[in-house]
Amino acid sequence: MKLYNSLSRKAEEIMPIQDGQVGLYTCGPTVYDHVHIGNLRTYINEDILRRTLKANGLKVKHVMNITDIEDKIFARSKETNKPYKELTSHFEKVFLDDVKRVGIDLSESTLVRASEAIEDMQQVIIKIPNKYVAEDGIYFDIAKYPEYGVFVKLDRSHSHHRINNDEYDKEHVADFALWKAKQPDEPSWDFEVDGRNIEGRPGWHIECSAMSAKHLGQPFDIHTGGVDLKFPHHENEVAQSHSASGKKLANYWVHSEHLLVDGKKMSKSLKNFYTLADVIDKGFDPLALRLLVLQAHYRTEAHFTWDNLEAAQNRLNDYRAMAALRWQPRKHLKDASTYILRDIPKQFAAILANDLDTPGALSLLSNIATQLGALDLDSENANRYNNVQDFTKLLEFLDDLLGLKLMNVDDISDEQKDFINQREKAREDKDWTKADELRKQLEEAKIGLNDTDHGVIWYPL
Ligand code: AMP
Ligand code: ZN
Repeated sequence: MKLYNSLSRKAEEIMPIQDGQVGLYTCGPTVYDHVHIGNLRTYINEDILRRTLKANGLKVKHVMNITDIEDKIFARSKETNKPYKELTSHFEKVFLDDVKRVGIDLSESTLVRASEAIEDMQQVIIKIPNKYVAEDGIYFDIAKYPEYGVFVKLDRSHSHHRINNDEYDKEHVADFALWKAKQPDEPSWDFEVDGRNIEGRPGWHIECSAMSAKHLGQPFDIHTGGVDLKFPHHENEVAQSHSASGKKLANYWVHSEHLLVDGKKMSKSLKNFYTLADVIDKGFDPLALRLLVLQAHYRTEAHFTWDNLEAAQNRLNDYRAMAALRWQPRKHLKDASTYILRDIPKQFAAILANDLDTPGALSLLSNIATQLGALDLDSENANRYNNVQDFTKLLEFLDDLLGLKLMNVDDISDEQKDFINQREKAREDKDWTKADELRKQLEEAKIGLNDTDHGVIWYPL
């Protein structure tokens, strides 16, 4: 399996540290507000990476942090007059709901809250030789760390600057806060450093260094995040972890490109963002957003427009119509359909193993949907294969790989099937009024009908 590694700036074959097993770390959300759909793009791509590793035979140990201690959280807590814990536990729930709706599966992942890993962070800070204590906290001294700058070429002339803000200027190198001295109205912890207690709280960057190594070891295999995290966040993670232990943090770094609106990065600060609630309010399925994301390769910028989302929704509807065929087995099997069903899983796994070629995987899926729509499935052809069984297996495989929940397309009721038969009868009798009436009733129940050469096929609307 190949992935583009931001460290080496080329696509590389993945060679896990432990045979057959991959340690995967994802920078998680800061839980002070709703995430926007740009953030969701990154999390969806990371979910596809996890699924692809599994489909290619690797066991995945996935860890993601939940940032519940950070500048923006305390600012929002002051603004809204809400205790910060109330804020973070509410938005953690909202986040977990949102990711579930867009088909992200965290059921086997380890989620770690920053507030529960303070000691782990302190232990890393203690081991960093090139740190110094200032009046507002403990800093990483860039001047004493010549390897700084693995992801981006940096102007080091400003290294005497000190930055207390977690998300600082992307242009200049600056000493960054490992630990921030206590501020009024902020939670704080004791921290014994060089014989003195520096009461305060961790900076943001140290969180991922501590949690990833604790749960995955150091080095571990793959570290992911959006491209904007390369600098300063990932640069700082690499520097801290390496400085503290002399070891590399992770072997492969995978960065997902941005979702844009009108040519600009979707972001809270530009106020050009939409949330999943906006998508749902406009009548779209959250999985249409997932499909919109998968239509673009993770290393290219993707443009969000409502028209693009509508096109993705239509594509999702086509896939669901394909999934409904499993409830509509027929005779007249052509051998080709058997071949298609048996061979596809390997093809999908291979396409995605090529640096997560999701557009390629979806074009294969669309091809299959078209072919199966034309071919028909046959459950009664027991002499060679049971096609409905094969097809169901294929849908399960696709759900595991792409997370589009095609197995959720349910059969219609006996009464609805009877309506379809009655409509057929009415058409034979040329009773068009009755046929139309029955079609309308089915449409109201969100069932569409397609009159084909081999009979009527229903599909979910
Ligand atoms: P943040 O809450 O800003 O740390 O972002 C959470 C994740 O979303 C990080 O991996 C970011 O890199 C990523 N991200 C932020 N904005 C966008 C965007 N417009 N498109 C894609 N990913 C983004
Ligand atoms: Zn991180």
